[in-house]
Amino acid sequence: MNILVINCGSSSLKYQLINMVEEKVYAKGICDRIGIKGSVLKHTPAGKDTVMKEVAMENHKDAVREVLSALTHEEYGVIRSMDEIAAVGHRVVHGGEKFSASVIIDDEVIKAIEECSDLAPLHNPPNLIGIEACRNLMPDTPMVAVFDTAFHQTMPSRAYLYAIPYELYEEHKIRRYGFHGTSHKYVAHRAAEMLNKPIEELKIVTCHLGNGASICAVKNGQSIDTSMGFTPLAGLVMGTRCGDIDPAIVGFLMDKENISSEEVDVILNKKSGILGLSGVSSDFRDIEAAISNGNKRAEIAMEVFVYTVAKYIGAYAAAMNGIDVIVFTAGLGENNSEVRRDVCKYLDFLGVKVDEEKNRCRGIERDFSAEDAKVRTLVIPTNEELMIARETRNLLKK
Ligand code: AMP
Repeated sequence: MNILVINCGSSSLKYQLINMVEEKVYAKGICDRIGIKGSVLKHTPAGKDTVMKEVAMENHKDAVREVLSALTHEEYGVIRSMDEIAAVGHRVVHGGEKFSASVIIDDEVIKAIEECSDLAPLHNPPNLIGIEACRNLMPDTPMVAVFDTAFHQTMPSRAYLYAIPYELYEEHKIRRYGFHGTSHKYVAHRAAEMLNKPIEELKIVTCHLGNGASICAVKNGQSIDTSMGFTPLAGLVMGTRCGDIDPAIVGFLMDKENISSEEVDVILNKKSGILGLSGVSSDFRDIEAAISNGNKRAEIAMEVFVYTVAKYIGAYAAAMNGIDVIVFTAGLGENNSEVRRDVCKYLDFLGVKVDEEKNRCRGIERDFSAEDAKVRTLVIPTNEELMIARETRNLLKK
């Protein structure tokens, strides 16, 4: 059984065709600059060179058409016909309070996703465009929506409610939703497998540290708290996002700088975080290079980042009354051993103890805890596409 996984942005469409018998990626790629001059398809069949095809793609339907044609191409295709695609799994960012699990897409689901667009105006509309494009070109193929927010719908009200007038929650649905749910769920389950323990018996903290970053407390297999909130701006310091700040700063900035709320939004989403603090870059590789050249602001940016991650893990130790395992994933979590080590240094009081030698690894699964550590520390490369494909397959089976 082959499942096509689609992740649609406003001008891009990423895809993977995954064979679920072997859980193997047959091909993956991206359509870039959709609706913009110079649109291009980059298609990589497993084990072969990437094919670049510059082709006009005016909209997402054109893009899906190009993807299907690449997947079935005589030379660089991986399947003979579209009939070999059993289902399509779509990443959808926001499922609001409506979706606590993945669902088979029908007209009603589409309407409900539209209703959540208010909560994710930059993400849900392009996700929907991708769904419509696929439904149009593959009307007989089942489609599944997998939500970034769904995994966190198990949070208790004490974790998801903000202390603002309750009517605002009722009226506008202002609450913590959390994001990166597919990634947190994937690595939490993988951690239980690696430790050979039922997930229902574990207290896991999953740290998704990439350009966007979030942490999740997973107790008995369920998300009970997470660092991102109403939007993906909250929580940790990120590449360009500020993470948690005093909300009064927004009004203060509007007054002092004489700017609109939209302009403040741009500052907090695009000009803050590691980039804002360091003045160097939003990429941690540039920050590390700057630190080795003696750049003090880059050093401070890194310190603030690491400190915030450690602080959240400490908070989640309280939320779960202990921690059995901490997982590091995503670009930075998988590749940067110094960040892992420095975060863990704050946590020796919990029984976290790193084996420095084992920690020297990149992009592979590894338990890097010392023999006598009370808390296991793991690196697990995330795989959101595989998780989406699994959810899609599971729903089809039902
Ligand atoms: P992501 O959003 O998951 O792609 O993660 C992006 C972040 O991960 C960037 O800040 C990168 O600096 C960092 N990153 C990605 N790959 C590496 C690598 N090979 N070594 C160190 N950092 C990396």
